[in-house]
Amino acid sequence: MIQTQYDVIVAGAGTAGFAAAIAAGRQGARTLLIEKNSHLGGTSTMGIPLLGVFDGNGQQAAKGIVEEFVQRMMQENGAIGHVHGAKWSNKGHMEGDSFTLTPFDSEICKYVMQEMVLEAHVDILLHTYIAGVVKEGNVVKGLELLNKSGKQTILASVVIDATGDADICDFAGAQMLEKPHVQNSSILFVMTGVDTERLAKALEEGDHVGGWGWWHSRIVTARKIDAAKETHVHIAGHFLPWDDDPSEVTFTSVSVREGEVYLNATRTVNIDATDAESLTKGEIAERRNIKRLVDGLQKHVPGFEHAYVSRTSPLGIRESRTVVGDYLLESDDVLLHREFADSVVRGAYPSDIHDPRGGRTQFLFIEGGGNYGIPYRCFLPKGLEGLMVVGRAISATQKANGTIRLQGTVMAQGQAVGTAAALAVKSGLTPRTLPVKQLQAELSRQGAIV
Ligand SMILES: Cc1cc2nc3c(=O)[nH]c(=O)nc-3n(C[C@H](O)[C@H](O)[C@H](O)COP(=O)(O)OP(=O)(O)OC[C@H]3O[C@@H](n4cnc5c(N)ncnc54)[C@H](O)[C@@H]3O)c2cc1C
Repeated sequence: MIQTQYDVIVAGAGTAGFAAAIAAGRQGARTLLIEKNSHLGGTSTMGIPLLGVFDGNGQQAAKGIVEEFVQRMMQENGAIGHVHGAKWSNKGHMEGDSFTLTPFDSEICKYVMQEMVLEAHVDILLHTYIAGVVKEGNVVKGLELLNKSGKQTILASVVIDATGDADICDFAGAQMLEKPHVQNSSILFVMTGVDTERLAKALEEGDHVGGWGWWHSRIVTARKIDAAKETHVHIAGHFLPWDDDPSEVTFTSVSVREGEVYLNATRTVNIDATDAESLTKGEIAERRNIKRLVDGLQKHVPGFEHAYVSRTSPLGIRESRTVVGDYLLESDDVLLHREFADSVVRGAYPSDIHDPRGGRTQFLFIEGGGNYGIPYRCFLPKGLEGLMVVGRAISATQKANGTIRLQGTVMAQGQAVGTAAALAVKSGLTPRTLPVKQLQAELSRQGAIV
């Protein structure tokens, strides 16, 4: 039974929110996790691998709940663990930093996240849109909800904004980063019946697929779920133009089961994820993009002759609002891995910028292949109390956002912020007055890396 007052409310049950709720619940905080969809997972359920768990030197930078999630997914036959094997850089194929990915089944993910959250004694409320905040002065006291039961208000000592779009911070009047444009948006889709070995060979031979000799051809093989031998789990490159479609298409394909491929291959620019009409335009445009691409793949590209679309995601948003916090993480902070005394999370993936104009994706690599710290202050919206932000909307410039937004890093953020919220409530403090040393010690005790 949902209560009217909680210690901690986590708004949004996506990649960051699921981990934040577990962390708060495990500290004994009475915690509620609210989500507008019918399931947990948010963007993690679109069919993308975990990135940002390992750095370019092959060292693990995110542990704790991230690692538990991976192990649990493996137990449920929904993942194959961390897959290493490729090297990449902006200079050439198979040289430079180590590339590691952790592919997983996006449907089993929904179940595993749900069970992990319930085991932490967290209440879950699905099918519920958060439509406003309750605020006294600069203190957020609760949320206004809208769902099939009607309108409802639920109060909390700390609200964690894990909506990805910083909806709650916006309702509360938080300062947002001014930006001229955001990264492009994509619907991800699954094709079944793909022969990944023929696709890899086509890439090698330049047969309707290009990219060999450049960063995109990150070719990784491993044994897929229930498979007897190693085959390709990750292939990235370009589909070359064909007669009836003159454009080159950058793609990544990820596969955890034989014959089933998660494709990230279409993009739409100028989508504002905080505007319903713009989102509608994006959904329509992307469905058309996928139809055109799939027709071409089936006709021209080796390995796709007998493949069909078996699943599509909602429009995936790489970037929308960014909250200005007590500290704004800069690109040099991450690329030169500057150290912060209040670091509570480690990020590890290069800054991954999908061109707002629709061109090729750019990668900014971290110096020496290392990893960087995210200061606790990035999770505290400037001038507001009782509210924290976590996930892709945290306080970071656009270039820094290109790396803090990867799933491994976002789950680690969730663990840090959920723990902080609960510790603050337990000690009668606010998130801003919580001693960061206490938080760091607790995160280390949990097995997280700060
Ligand atoms: C197309 C695409 C490809 C990507 N590829 C990769 C990849 O290969 N590897 C990788 O590691 N990362 C990848 N990323 C990045 C990564 O997936 C995201 O940055 C990350 O998952 C964002 O996590 P989040 O918790 O901030 O947001 P989300 O996971 O999106 O969670 C936000 C949640 O809040 C809910 N919500 C939002 N507003 C409300 C509201 N008002 N009321 C109630 N609920 C609300 C949403 O429904 C959602 O469940 C990709 C992202 C995209 C879009």
